[in-house]
Amino acid sequence: MVIRRFSDEMKKRFGGKVYRIALSSGCTCPNRDGTLGTGGCAFCSEYGAGEFSFPDLPVKDQFERGKRLVANKTRADRFIGYFQSFTNTYGDQERLKMLFRETADIPEICALSIATRPDCLENGMVEFLSELSGIKPVWVELGLQTADDETGRRMNRCFDRDSFEEAYRRLKGAGLEVVVHIILGLPGENEEDMIGTAEYVSGLSPAVDGIKIHMLQILDGTAVAEMYRKEPFHVLSLEEYTGIVIKILKMLPPETVVHRFTGDGPKKTLIEPKWCWDKKKVLNYMNGEIAKA
Ligand code: SF4
Repeated sequence: MVIRRFSDEMKKRFGGKVYRIALSSGCTCPNRDGTLGTGGCAFCSEYGAGEFSFPDLPVKDQFERGKRLVANKTRADRFIGYFQSFTNTYGDQERLKMLFRETADIPEICALSIATRPDCLENGMVEFLSELSGIKPVWVELGLQTADDETGRRMNRCFDRDSFEEAYRRLKGAGLEVVVHIILGLPGENEEDMIGTAEYVSGLSPAVDGIKIHMLQILDGTAVAEMYRKEPFHVLSLEEYTGIVIKILKMLPPETVVHRFTGDGPKKTLIEPKWCWDKKKVLNYMNGEIAKA
């Protein structure tokens, strides 16, 4: 099986190794601040899916600090400015545009990756990001998680598939690269549902530029942890998860780059699956199985 791996694609595109540095835009999320909801998506931690950034510092300082933190992990000299936590296009649009421009101006940053919700993409922001992508590549990361609106409702996602698709088309229409996140192992979903989500993503036209596949991580303090305590649901084993990931990888269109197929959540609050604790073992096992597939 041939997959387009993120690391290989980055080497081809930027001529060497690149590393993601988590940056904070200082945004919250309409699903947390009361605009759409207050509890957030059931699987989202209080950090909004990003526990490794420094929200109070100016972006250049965040970048320098992030770089120092990863200095012993990578020899990369080019970095992706990764706005990971919360909804990074939500709030004062002019402030955000300035922030993204400042980030693009950092010479060692070779691309920006901006995670957001499909219902928080004003036309002005899409136009701005499209212009910015003429200076440095910009990836917009959309968290779909599941193509099943019923699961989406149970997870308190507060947007539906139509809203995702509308945003996707506008972003692609503006020439932007889009990376879609999906989660495997959501409560109430079986393998067929997960494959259904992957089929939906694989069938998007134009083809999706990138995908991030995550295992559901049940983190302490989240609604999903509460659900799990009250009524434990099936947590995929590493073998089950890998089997489904392989089926998904096989159905992706050739244009799609696989940005990630594991997650490294915070060890301190991870309740299940415990196999996620050993990232090295997980990667070795998964890469071995993928090589055989
Ligand atoms: S949209 Fe993202 S940041 Fe907002 S609650 Fe859901 S997962 Fe968390």
